[in-house]
Amino acid sequence: MAAVPEPSLILSFEEARQVVEQHAAALRPHGRELLDLLDSMGRVLAEPIAADRNSPPFPRATRDGYAVRAADLAQLPATLQVVGEIKAGIASSEMPAIEAGEAAAIMTGAPAPAGADAVVMVEYTSRHGDQVQITKGVAAGDNIVPAGSEAQRGERLLAPGVRLDHGAIAVAASVGRSRVVVYVQPKVAVLSTGDEVVDVDVPPGPNQIRNSNSYSLAAQIQAAGGEPVVLPIAPDEPSRLRELISEGLEADMLLITGGVSMGKYDLVEQVLRGFQAEFFFTGAQIQPGRPVVFGRIPQSPSPDAQSRARAPAPHIYRYFFGLPGNPVSTMVTFELFARPILEALSGQMPRKLIFVHAKLRSEIRTKTGLKRFLPAMLSGEFEQAEVELLRWQGSGDIAATSRANCYIVIPPDRDRIAAGEWVPVLMK
Ligand code: AMP
Ligand code: MG
Repeated sequence: MAAVPEPSLILSFEEARQVVEQHAAALRPHGRELLDLLDSMGRVLAEPIAADRNSPPFPRATRDGYAVRAADLAQLPATLQVVGEIKAGIASSEMPAIEAGEAAAIMTGAPAPAGADAVVMVEYTSRHGDQVQITKGVAAGDNIVPAGSEAQRGERLLAPGVRLDHGAIAVAASVGRSRVVVYVQPKVAVLSTGDEVVDVDVPPGPNQIRNSNSYSLAAQIQAAGGEPVVLPIAPDEPSRLRELISEGLEADMLLITGGVSMGKYDLVEQVLRGFQAEFFFTGAQIQPGRPVVFGRIPQSPSPDAQSRARAPAPHIYRYFFGLPGNPVSTMVTFELFARPILEALSGQMPRKLIFVHAKLRSEIRTKTGLKRFLPAMLSGEFEQAEVELLRWQGSGDIAATSRANCYIVIPPDRDRIAAGEWVPVLMK
């Protein structure tokens, strides 16, 4: 029989999230590797990256036009003598310098010459032989980025724990790093349970359903920076379940789906207790996902680590989640609770959940008591963000959820939200 959870282990959404964040804060990744920059997208940086020289390395023109002394344009129109042309990448030996009454033609990205303090855009000039007539004044500094103003040599531009995206990759490239040190990705075991659940390529019997959770979870794990290890489906039978859970404990973290509700064959909690599991919560007051379970299992240090015996083994616990089997519950509870632990194991800096607000398009009626995360569509013209619930059949409705781009968040004390109200939205 499934154990009846202690009521105190059923937490509000905020309490449950805090518990997860507290545990995440103590976790560290367990290794580093050197990668080609081109292979580093989505990986977590394990070293600081600093500027190898001042940036920009020279005062850089940001417009095509004429490098001038601003003071020469006090009277307009002004006519200046053109003493040279400066294109991007010009050799230093070919750089002109300008004096009072002079200008140099200059291109975007080229170094401003000595003597110039501004660039006039070409649109405000007309060229006549070696003279240029200028019709608009500039202030000193206009259209020139001073040398070293973006970064000083040695300045830290990226910190360890940053997840590399295209912008961070650009920074690494700009300071000459074709390879970067990143953290090893944590392995996350995925164990789907249920006598009715069959593999995707097995023709399902009339009362069977295909395993979609292992696939959605594997995708979510990858998106969050982990490496999924998908285990075979576990039946609702303790000994095989035990075997597969102990296989899953070889990974850095274990996600089990199904078998955490109150039914006679929901055996996951019971089997986990046999592994000396410590439970931090066995439910959260949310929908979908109420039966979500979070805990950890002590690991005996490997014989290897014992023989080294100086420092304790890096992870002496394996964290696990029992996620409800309903496919949408599985997806939502992964994002709300499992993701912070995975991110911490991958070395990412902790992040808070970010909610945005949008105007509700049509009234919502629901029941009080649970915080709800309901699949929704955020749309609207320009700044007018509008959000609407998708018609869905409950937490098994994968098709509706796949059309959603966000979740509307409904606080537990509301049973009606009127059209036009601003509501919190969690992006998918
Ligand atoms: P459970 O949490 O085991 O009570 O399962 C709740 C619902 O989710 C049931 O309708 C299951 O058939 C369904 N379900 C459980 N595991 C999976 C899975 N791996 N893929 C798709 N649906 C599942
Ligand atoms: Mg089940």
